[in-house]
Amino acid sequence: MKLNVIIPMYNEEGNALLMHKALTDTLKDLKYELIFINDGSKDKTYEMLKDIYANDKKHVKVINFSRNFGKDAAIYAGLAHSNAKYTVIVDGDLQQNPKYLIDMMNFLDENDEYDAVAMVNEDRKKESGLVKVLKNGFYSFINILSDTKFKKGASDFRMFRKSVVEAILTLPENNRFSKGIFSWVGFKTKYMKYDVEERHTGKSNFNIKSSFKYAWNGIINFSVKPLKVATVLGTLFSLFAFVYLIVILIKTLILGADVPGYPSLICVVLLLGGLNLMAVGILGEYVSKMYLEIKKRPIYVAKNKLGFDDDIL
Ligand code: UDP
Ligand code: MG
Repeated sequence: MKLNVIIPMYNEEGNALLMHKALTDTLKDLKYELIFINDGSKDKTYEMLKDIYANDKKHVKVINFSRNFGKDAAIYAGLAHSNAKYTVIVDGDLQQNPKYLIDMMNFLDENDEYDAVAMVNEDRKKESGLVKVLKNGFYSFINILSDTKFKKGASDFRMFRKSVVEAILTLPENNRFSKGIFSWVGFKTKYMKYDVEERHTGKSNFNIKSSFKYAWNGIINFSVKPLKVATVLGTLFSLFAFVYLIVILIKTLILGADVPGYPSLICVVLLLGGLNLMAVGILGEYVSKMYLEIKKRPIYVAKNKLGFDDDIL
């Protein structure tokens, strides 16, 4: 098998048929297999995928999740079921044009020293000014905090050699920040520019709130530096307090007791209380992640699969 295509789908009933057609038209001369993951869609995505499978059993496989587990879980399921020379992840809404698959494959065919190709949306033409600033800010911030380096604008639209897929699957974490995992495993990656297209139908599953959650998740998953904030601030404030204590002692000895100063005292108490809570909060974020990881729950639950040997129909 030359190529496995992994397509995560959540509420993509209007895109499924067209996606299958676009992929089939692009890949018709190759030995390929499409692995669609229905990530607990609330619309008719699964019914559409069932039809697509019935009409093209040679090339189509479907993993049907028992509920919505998120795109990163869908990617994991796809990778765990892929068994080809190259594996590519592509969104199911036609924003990532399948035509690029050929360029990615040709590049890997011609450049043995590279193990992966990641598509980069550098211009972000379709995004508003604020979103651009926030996304670029996120990449700068996470690159300062994390030892794993992130390429600005690099998407999940990536093609891997088998060795990279195997490496990704060795990371068992439940809370999966795919972009971080892809960087963490290393390997020589070619960053290729591409233009993101408009969604064919439906709406994006990511809004400002979920994007912030995604970004925060990425930081907690790939950096422990926030934990050091408490140590650094605590040390600085203790030093300051010690010096100030000496100043007050000397002043009191020379000038006598000085009663005023309540407002400043309240400010200091509030500030220190706030910092304490912030430090405990950051600690809590890591502890909660540990709690969830330690349960070792599966990354996803499949209700049924189509096209695999262990078919449950
Ligand atoms: N997706 C998914 N599970 C989710 C959310 C999204 O499988 O919980 C899929 C979705 O169907 C699409 C891809 O992930 O194929 C990217 O999602 P979306 O288009 O909503 O994100 P955007 O392109 O706006 O970043
Ligand atoms: Mg999209």
